Amino acid sequence: MTNIPVPFFDLTRQFSSMEGEMLAAVVPLFRSQQFILGEAVSSFEEAFSKTLGVGRSIGVSSGTDALVVALLAAGLRPGQGVLVPSFTFFATAGAVVLAGGVPIFVDVDPASYLMTPRIVEDFLGRETAVSGHGSLRTRRGEIPVAGLLPVHLYGRMVDMEALSGVAQRHGLFVVEDACQSVGATFQGRPPGVFSQAVAYSFFPTKNLGAAGDAGMITANDPAIADHCLRLRVHGSRKRYEHEEMGMNARLDALQARVLSVKLSRLDGWTRRRQELARRYNESFSGLPGVTVPVDPELAGGRSGHVYHQYTLRVLREGRRDRMRAFLSERSIGSEVYYPIPLHCQKAFSDNPTIHGPLSVSEALSREVVSLPVFPELTDEEQERVIGAVRDVLSS
Ligand SMILES: *Cc1c(COP(=O)(O)O)cnc(C)c1O
Repeated sequence: MTNIPVPFFDLTRQFSSMEGEMLAAVVPLFRSQQFILGEAVSSFEEAFSKTLGVGRSIGVSSGTDALVVALLAAGLRPGQGVLVPSFTFFATAGAVVLAGGVPIFVDVDPASYLMTPRIVEDFLGRETAVSGHGSLRTRRGEIPVAGLLPVHLYGRMVDMEALSGVAQRHGLFVVEDACQSVGATFQGRPPGVFSQAVAYSFFPTKNLGAAGDAGMITANDPAIADHCLRLRVHGSRKRYEHEEMGMNARLDALQARVLSVKLSRLDGWTRRRQELARRYNESFSGLPGVTVPVDPELAGGRSGHVYHQYTLRVLREGRRDRMRAFLSERSIGSEVYYPIPLHCQKAFSDNPTIHGPLSVSEALSREVVSLPVFPELTDEEQERVIGAVRDVLSS
């Protein structure tokens, strides 16, 4: 077998497949020198809503800013708490703090790695109480609980209908972190149907990636969508009149043009990701010592999971790191998302709601490994990855 390196990810392949079209899309902006908002942004926002079948789209400067603006528009007030899974990227909880709130970390489900309705319900029952003023507060730290921030991790969606039922029973808002799951569905429905707002990231390595930082918010409620529009331009609807505090969180026109070119290809890329995931699952299911992503729909070819990451769980202490070292010796890329759960991060060490271990998040941080799954990965490259993983598991 050859030893040609298999990259974990390679965006240059994608660009070379569309170089001419991409450059033709951005040159007119340089000619006009119109870089802020305008037709480039509004036409991408419309195309995004239409292509994904989601509510009103508001282009913003990053996934992090999408989360901050969405949380503010959903009604988060200073000092209020938002439930977030501990097993996610830093920005999920970072955005809660940037928006003036307090992240309240909960564990994730051992089968899906997601913050599920059951986990939220159990947490609220165990760790919160209704105060004299009728508001829900954490027992530790007395933080008023205002909302839920589920994360559709690795491209797989939380059951939002069930989660929104829990939120409604407790009077909480819901903002979805869909930064890893553009194009994903659950039972045929995209993010946004059962929440106040959804945040997407177009960081270059996401499934739909810009040529730099970019993001999007979607909202079905026109009042929330209008509020997001205001918050992204200094709290202003009319030039030089500021109704409230806001940010500079606009989507760049250049990024909108780049993203418009890529959006029409997203569905094909997603199907290729699912095809690669299917082959990995067929190759690894039943092997001792590893758990593959649970996705019953994948075999039939109609999965709603968009496989931003294809992630194995390698059981037994130390085995994951040995597997990574072995892959690296064979010049095969792999990554760990994420090696430290958020409740263990120094940045959150003064959080008054943290107590005791979140055992699933902590176990996952030691046991997960993501394999190459980008759409341009060739079948031959994937065979090399599969062969190496099989070898290491049988050694
Ligand atoms: C990428 C990501 C973000 C942040 O997006 P940026 O565009 O990098 O700011 C937030 N949450 C999750 C789960 C992400 O993967």
